[in-house]
Amino acid sequence: MSEAMVNTTTKSATTDLVLGRMEKHDHEEVLFCHDRSTGLKAIIAIHDTTLGPALGGTRMWPYASEVEALNDVLRLSRGMTYKSSLAGLDLGGGKAVIIGDARTQKTEAMFRRFGRFVDSLNGRYITAEDVGMNITEMVNVLKETRYVAGLPEEMGGSGDPSPVTAYGVYCGLKAAAKVAYGTDDLKDRKVAVQGAGNVGKGLVALLVKDGATVLLTDIHDDKLAAIKAEFPSITLVKPDAIYDVDMDIYSPCALGATVNDDTLKRLKCSVIAGAANNQLADEAVHGRAVMEKGILYAPDFLINAGGIINCAWERKGYNRKAALRQTEGIYETALRIFKASSEQGIPTYLAANQAAEERINSIRAAGMRF
Ligand code: NAD
Repeated sequence: MSEAMVNTTTKSATTDLVLGRMEKHDHEEVLFCHDRSTGLKAIIAIHDTTLGPALGGTRMWPYASEVEALNDVLRLSRGMTYKSSLAGLDLGGGKAVIIGDARTQKTEAMFRRFGRFVDSLNGRYITAEDVGMNITEMVNVLKETRYVAGLPEEMGGSGDPSPVTAYGVYCGLKAAAKVAYGTDDLKDRKVAVQGAGNVGKGLVALLVKDGATVLLTDIHDDKLAAIKAEFPSITLVKPDAIYDVDMDIYSPCALGATVNDDTLKRLKCSVIAGAANNQLADEAVHGRAVMEKGILYAPDFLINAGGIINCAWERKGYNRKAALRQTEGIYETALRIFKASSEQGIPTYLAANQAAEERINSIRAAGMRF
């Protein structure tokens, strides 16, 4: 091979569509799944299996392009590695995406075929429900593979993880309050919760019980009305007004990327702690910006790990009390991350990433790979 060819080969490894992207964040394996008869087009990404099998949900979404789907699955699977590592679980990170419209394109055959692809990985990837999927699809996947987690209780699973996620967010939020205010007592603390969904409503219940002043928003008035009927003391706010209310703590429990250039000009809180995945629009930029603004940000993948902890217990023989107890550990982990962030003068998301990587690297160095 000529020198010119060697150089071209080396360079292309960093720019190629798939392997170049995998190389950037050290992904182990990506499986592209296609089946003409069912119309299945899916991508399964296994980011890292050092700590255990890669567990992460399957998302069905009408991606505008394959590149968009690939980027999403690579990003999400890496996030799962970090989340499980920080939560102390013996799980790696993986995720799957099915390209398609969840309202019109679902068939039994498609999800059974997808289940076969999951099964072909022999347990290196364990799937679960995510956006666009529901129990009907999971039951069909389960017909073809046992590598499925987060099943309903009547099927021997651990049921809806949202209450456990809400509890973990509450623990992480309390840890942040402890650092920001010197006490984790939430009485009269003003908490603005964005999203009255499964996690949001569980969190509101815990906050109200502690005597916090809760401000809540959602785009669906019926959801807000139901929660207000249960907790009359809360104040309802219009969706876009949530960033401007008088608050101590902003708790995003709806969408990602709500901590961005625009909202950071408006938010006057001292803590951000919520359930939504990928709250920082740009991790590096806004992770530093919140720190410079004097806001303590509780990394989302650290404090929303209750759901994955619940799933992990399902694999060991489900025990709700044990799952909740382990979820409580989020409080101490969060304090440790806040301390590392302050001692090193680095953003909290970075301190959390480093702690997740340290655990993985130490297990890898000891040769104890899954
Ligand atoms: P959900 O779909 O039940 O609730 C989300 C709520 O946000 C809905 O009520 C929706 O109407 C509302 N919403 C959407 N856009 C909004 C907007 N612009 N302003 C205000 N409200 C808006 O979802 P969930 O299960 O409660 O999860 C909430 C977040 O937490 C999601 O980002 C999810 O990815 C993340 N999360 C959930 C779990 C879990 O166990 N459910 C685990 C980890 C992370």
